[in-house]
Amino acid sequence: RKRDVEDHTKLQKAVEELDPKAETKSFSDLPLSEPTSKGLEASHFKTLTDIQSKSIPLALKGKDILGAAKTGSGKTLAFLVPVLENLYRQKWTEFDGLGALIISPTRELAIQIFEVLRKIGRYHTFSAGLVIGGRSLQEEQERLGRMNILVCTPGRMLQHMDQTAAFEIDNLQMLVMDEADRIMDMGFSKAVDAIVEHLPKKRQTMLFSATQTKKVSDLARLSLRDPEYVAVHEAA
Ligand code: ADP
Ligand code: MG
Repeated sequence: RKRDVEDHTKLQKAVEELDPKAETKSFSDLPLSEPTSKGLEASHFKTLTDIQSKSIPLALKGKDILGAAKTGSGKTLAFLVPVLENLYRQKWTEFDGLGALIISPTRELAIQIFEVLRKIGRYHTFSAGLVIGGRSLQEEQERLGRMNILVCTPGRMLQHMDQTAAFEIDNLQMLVMDEADRIMDMGFSKAVDAIVEHLPKKRQTMLFSATQTKKVSDLARLSLRDPEYVAVHEAA
């Protein structure tokens, strides 16, 4: 117990002292918890990609992030590592309810994110679930209340927010919108607005997309607070 408290305090201090401009090369250079470090190692992730080294330190420090980098640049870990860490440092437990919500445009992408989360999060004790339809609403409802981290598609999530009475979202710490350009292109703008309206105002928000479009900047203006812009461009 005492050791746990000391470890958390140390980690918190290291994150506060972390210089987000120092170009972090490897995950072992970051102030990360034991469970995340072990999960990354077991998944053979050692070196950070560009978008990860630019956004993870800022996100660990609680900043809102507007990130743009092409497909294949490693955006998934850029938000999953901070999600795990920021909940861990807050000593999030099963009794604290939903801590992080990750919105993805399609079921397939949501499943991919969930699989990466299961891999790198395997040594954490958080509960994580998918809300993408394909089961009965009631079946999903029963599991929802017990989840700390959810990966969802916009339509299905909104359906739960409207219909699941016991759905507790007041504690939410982090919102992630992945592939925000696709979310907008697929016509989920209204659904996402409605979801964001249900969420506590005081939260950390990360928005990632492959392209920077007008619709994405509109969404960013509505959902992010004083964001850090993190863009990775291909070398010319
Ligand atoms: P994006 O969301 O930007 O399209 P992904 O997060 O799906 O990119 O990652 C693309 C590929 O790169 C995946 O196969 C993933 O496992 C791999 N990858 C991501 N980050 C790293 C890393 N730090 N080291 C090695 N491979 C990585
Ligand atoms: Mg992606």
